[in-house]
Amino acid sequence: MSGRPHANGGPTVPGVAIMAGSLFTDASKRLEKALKYVAISDDAGERLKYPKTSLSVSIPVRMDDGSLKIFPGYRVRYDDTRGPGKGGVRYHPNVTMDEVQSLAFWMTFKCALLNLPFGGAKGGITLNPKELSRAELERLSRGYIEAIADFIGPDVDILAPDVYTNEMMMGWMMDQYSIICRKISPAVVTGKPVTMGGSQGRNTATGTGAFYIMQGMLPKFDQYPENTTVAVQGFGNAGMVVAQCLYQDGYKVVAISDSQGGIYNEQGIDIPAVINYKQQHRTLAGMYCDQAICDLGENQQISNAQLLALDVDVLIPAALENQITSDNADQVRARYIFEVANGPTTTAADDILASKGIYVFPDILVNAGGVTVSYFEWVQNRSGLYWGAKEVNDRLKEKMVEEAEHVWKITQDLEVNVRTAAYVHALNRLSEAMDAKGTRDYYQDS
Ligand code: NAD
Repeated sequence: MSGRPHANGGPTVPGVAIMAGSLFTDASKRLEKALKYVAISDDAGERLKYPKTSLSVSIPVRMDDGSLKIFPGYRVRYDDTRGPGKGGVRYHPNVTMDEVQSLAFWMTFKCALLNLPFGGAKGGITLNPKELSRAELERLSRGYIEAIADFIGPDVDILAPDVYTNEMMMGWMMDQYSIICRKISPAVVTGKPVTMGGSQGRNTATGTGAFYIMQGMLPKFDQYPENTTVAVQGFGNAGMVVAQCLYQDGYKVVAISDSQGGIYNEQGIDIPAVINYKQQHRTLAGMYCDQAICDLGENQQISNAQLLALDVDVLIPAALENQITSDNADQVRARYIFEVANGPTTTAADDILASKGIYVFPDILVNAGGVTVSYFEWVQNRSGLYWGAKEVNDRLKEKMVEEAEHVWKITQDLEVNVRTAAYVHALNRLSEAMDAKGTRDYYQDS
């Protein structure tokens, strides 16, 4: 592969300042690794190092006290060779262009891996949503769509929920886009409330999809519900659902955490009771105090750092990126990591985990259930025919299991780790689509 020279160890991106040591620089290393194992054209490899389009906007919001506040927002369409851009919108204080671009990069590979007719995109707004009222969040969500309306659309780039965004916000965004276009356009956003054209099973799809991957992969290592302990970092939309599925199937979930802290119970945590508590109080913090819920078990308080280092069989990072790094990877004692979050493990940490014989099942495979049911939602919106929950879940399971087995076969055939196999699988599909438009060899032969 020939690449343009760059100063920071990763590809330089025209018009976008990406710093040395950035998330995107690290994300690109996964591509570099996988490129060694695929026979794809130089053209395709080169194109995938750069985002197709990046947009930065400022969103003015009238606050409840009458003041005007400006919030920075972003949308990146990384690649759309295989179809319109597809990716969530994140509301978080740490959102930057670097992060959004990395998330859009991962979406590109995830959609190809699942063979969805989408490219990769992502968006975000830099703010702490917990500091805004509901009315302010609605004005912000509608303002974001005002700012990026020319850049999105059902055939251009389709939005979805991500960290700290939910179905109601997706409904506001779809509604605002429909107002701008003067026609109802449900397919511009997925993850909407079911009554506004959302799909059955979308709000549980990421966690459920991850569970299907675990159900398929763990028995290959003789790990079954009765002999497998699990720790879950992040107890939001994705983490809560995967913990619930595992609990129902008989796995022992011994630790969970959220941004305020975590709980540990070596006998196994009563997950439905915790979900009930969290839905009422919006935090796990009260679980380790003297409130009635503590009577449900011997839950001890632990920190997120302690959770990551627990002696469990399976560790599930389901919060944010950069949680397992070169600073703490050697403390990880789990034997299998299933990445429900996007980008929770750095490239340097990957090498340390591999040297310890720990299997890492990567984000672009494990958390792909969300975008898969988003695809089903988009199909239903465009056809006008809506499916029942069973049909959605059966189709989800079939797709997740089929692609996971394909990735697993590549790990065996090429003797590579699961992450590299997942990128190889996605890269083959991406390059096939890119090469269909013509390669250097094609034009030189003419
Ligand atoms: P969410 O906002 O519903 O939940 C995030 C959870 O992480 C919350 O419980 C929060 O308290 C917790 N958290 C935040 N910082 C933490 C920290 N430092 N330590 C421990 N916990 C922390 O978000 P989500 O939708 O569940 O997304 C979680 C991850 O899954 C993200 O990486 C997201 O990109 C990824 N993901 C989500 C979807 C989806 O459909 N929601 C799809 C694919 C990937």
